Amino acid sequence: MLNIPQNIHKVRRRIEQAVLNTSGTKNNIKLLAVSKRHNSAGIRQAYACDIREFGENYLQEALEKITALSDLDIHWHFIGPIQSNKTKAIAEHFAWVHTVDRLKVASRLSKQRPSSLPPLNICIQINIDDEESKSGIAPEETLSFAKQVDALPNLRLRGLMCIPKKADLNEENTNAFQKTKVIFDHIATQEIFHHWDTLSMGMSTDLETAIANGANIVRIGTDIFGSRS
Ligand SMILES: *Cc1c(COP(=O)(O)O)cnc(C)c1O
Repeated sequence: MLNIPQNIHKVRRRIEQAVLNTSGTKNNIKLLAVSKRHNSAGIRQAYACDIREFGENYLQEALEKITALSDLDIHWHFIGPIQSNKTKAIAEHFAWVHTVDRLKVASRLSKQRPSSLPPLNICIQINIDDEESKSGIAPEETLSFAKQVDALPNLRLRGLMCIPKKADLNEENTNAFQKTKVIFDHIATQEIFHHWDTLSMGMSTDLETAIANGANIVRIGTDIFGSRS
């Protein structure tokens, strides 16, 4: 039987342990519960365990849940690929977007962000180890892209996000996470971005590896809500 409260408890324990193992220099780690392909009832259960950050990949599905759960104080994170005709709804309904990798998408998000809302928090997705993948900005283009994103008025550039190619191989992921952290730190040392504080990496199978390499948002789906059909 699926037990969401117990799963969340276990994930929180894993996060605590991972933080202890990194000699305690860490910021707080934000737990993002990835609820794609799971229903509103499961989200309510997670919310009752004090989870406030939820991640969704598919806009239509997300909008249905956002409407159904509008009585709750949830911060919604968009973590899927973005088509430019979807930016308006994303700008209107989400607090964060982790998957920005094109200026066209970033400009539209900024333009379409309602003025009644605070700036939209943005992570740039890096294509860290997969040349064939279409998602993510090339590592060497990250800084110049970040400058362009940071210049947009209604966005708040927060940091980087990556999805390693081999989601089950912790050794290879170490490498991808390390490379992302190096880029993150390099940009941080320039001190040109005022809100540069977020490294979004780590999923159910590799959250320990990600935290060991500096992640401060981990995105956990399966180990909270169970497998997806
Ligand atoms: C689905 C998804 C996750 C969660 O993955 P799990 O392995 O189920 O924890 C995290 N990040 C992104 C970008 C995803 O698409």
